[in-house]
Amino acid sequence: MDLKELKTSSRYLSILNANGIYNIKDFFLYLPRDYEDRTEIKKVRDLVIDNTTQTTKGELISKNMINTARGKKLIEIILEDEIGNKIFVNIMNNTYYFQTLEKGKFYVIVGKPKFQRGKIIFWNPKIINSENMKNNEQTGRIYPIYSELMGIKASRFAKKILENIEKLDYLFPDPLPQSIINSYGLLNLGEAIRNIHFPQSFEKLTKAQYRIYFDKVLKIQIVSQISKIKHKKEIKSKLIPKWEVIKNFLNTLPFDLTNAQKKAIKICIEDICSGKPMLRLLQGDVGSGKTVVAIAIAYYIKNVLGKQSAILAPTEVLAKQHFLGINKFLLPLGIKIDLLTGSTSLKDKEKIKQNLFNSNTDIVVGTTAIIQDTVDFCNLGFVVIDEQHKFGVKQRGYLKKFNTPHILQMTATPIPRSLAIAFFGEFDVSIIDELPAGRKKIHTKVITENQFNKLKEWILQKIDQGQQVYIITPLIEESEAMENVANVMQEYENTKDFFSSISDKVDVLHGKMSSKDKDLVMNKFKNNKTKILVSTTVIEVGVDSPTATIILIKNSERFGLSQLHQLRGRVGRSDLQSYCFLMTTSKSQDTIQRLKNMEKYSDGFNLSQIDLQTRGGGEILGIKQSGQTDIPINILMDTEFLEKVQNASIDILQTYPKLENLNLLKKEILKSDPNILS
Ligand code: ADP
Ligand code: MG
Repeated sequence: MDLKELKTSSRYLSILNANGIYNIKDFFLYLPRDYEDRTEIKKVRDLVIDNTTQTTKGELISKNMINTARGKKLIEIILEDEIGNKIFVNIMNNTYYFQTLEKGKFYVIVGKPKFQRGKIIFWNPKIINSENMKNNEQTGRIYPIYSELMGIKASRFAKKILENIEKLDYLFPDPLPQSIINSYGLLNLGEAIRNIHFPQSFEKLTKAQYRIYFDKVLKIQIVSQISKIKHKKEIKSKLIPKWEVIKNFLNTLPFDLTNAQKKAIKICIEDICSGKPMLRLLQGDVGSGKTVVAIAIAYYIKNVLGKQSAILAPTEVLAKQHFLGINKFLLPLGIKIDLLTGSTSLKDKEKIKQNLFNSNTDIVVGTTAIIQDTVDFCNLGFVVIDEQHKFGVKQRGYLKKFNTPHILQMTATPIPRSLAIAFFGEFDVSIIDELPAGRKKIHTKVITENQFNKLKEWILQKIDQGQQVYIITPLIEESEAMENVANVMQEYENTKDFFSSISDKVDVLHGKMSSKDKDLVMNKFKNNKTKILVSTTVIEVGVDSPTATIILIKNSERFGLSQLHQLRGRVGRSDLQSYCFLMTTSKSQDTIQRLKNMEKYSDGFNLSQIDLQTRGGGEILGIKQSGQTDIPINILMDTEFLEKVQNASIDILQTYPKLENLNLLKKEILKSDPNILS
């Protein structure tokens, strides 16, 4: 329906358009950011000083304008309520009020009363002329406060919404089956939206918000559940686990697995033997040793099932490292491994594709090049997606190419269980909650540049002992790639100057380098030829150099804690004591306190929980831009609620497997994933 129905100016319309509001439906989906309780007009003696918004009303008996010592204008107004008690109102710098308010008229005052110098005072409240009949709608109810859009006043929004509120019911027919609405005790959608704007009561408001978020999460859940059903539909033969194959592999390792690693391997093998394809998310803190779990499974897949595996990493650097690491473990066992990334030469690519097609290759390690290219596997049995959070939830499409194999996603950002439900509903989740023995806690300190400068000699000593240093410069903005390069190159020059005695052992790494150059730099660092590596966050995930023991992160305030934790995980990868310095120029106590959490917590779980509270879910999941972050944090932390919605999605799909007869819902779901039902 057309916005013109709002009967409003073309200027207003163009502002709405500019903010993505094109029709009346959009208009109603512009939700209040807050509410004021204007249900009760209180007498002065009934006001409560508790920092809540309250409403009172009185006759204006005096007004006075004072020039303050600081050169401002203070307007003092006194009103009297119906039983003669005084209401004091102070307004700063608004001469408009001074001119328009009239003695002897009645005004409604909405604000947070304070108790000062023996008086109850309202500072800068809303003052509504209650003799103007048009204003009656503004009081006697819970009143919505909208964010102002380029000069459209909040009250204007409220007015327009109220004028048109009767249209709601036919604008928002309910997309959910009545049985679900009943069994989950939901408000109807129209009623919910009506109560979001003009709540009948705070209870109704809570129910209305519940309904809105229920629908949002439900859509995500339905997509997840359909993916899961599709994936699990594939029948595989039930098998008896051959534990001796795993044992044989473990016997070749130079270390003993932690119990948590063993448990993870066990559950994956059980998945594989269960008769249904595995779809599992393996969470484990940085350095908990997830890779070897994936390798063990790939080994099993080859030896027992005679099938191939693909291991996907988010960056070339990491893919290369996995390739080398996996070779180290599996080449001696006769497993054939190939590396396929965007920078693999065409000739090599052809050869690798041939190998995969003819089953000459058992494991291919690489980046998304593996799925983007026309790669055909002879018999792909297992796919690992490492550092899954770096691929982004939005790009889950990559799973489609691999509809039938066993899938193991791995992530080093241990996310709260509620988030796992919300965003990884289709996955079974396992957690590696133990680090290999002998790892020391990384000493972490928030410091200023000055403090860092004093560490120069100490760092040189460490380097003398064979240890290595990372210096990380922050990403400015993903889109400003060139500035990032300039930034890291500047840091590189500064570092060489600062550590002039070893300037030839300082190197630099950034995302815009050719992959050959990146390899060169990484190899030199891994071989301990380079002592200090100045880098952007390209080393964030996975990179493993055991003698690296010091990491300095500049402008650390620009990172989320989960990301800092990832970066910190580049050190502490052996039994050497490691150090993480978080440099900041920020003077904000909030910022410093947030960073100091890094000193306190050494496990990613606590840190991601804090991120979730202070920066929202997008930060952790790498989905800031995906539009799924408009779900507020208290909802994303509410495990019980999320489980309920998940159950509702399962209920719906049981009765309507293809969402048949639920056309509205189906349309919404297809909007988020056009191929999901095919
Ligand atoms: P992440 O879980 O962060 O991916 P990695 O798999 O890269 O961790 O493992 C980190 C390092 O620890 C690697 O060098 C790996 O070989 C080593 N490692 C893995 N498991 C163990 C273990 N049980 N004992 C000792 N070292 C281990
Ligand atoms: Mg890893």
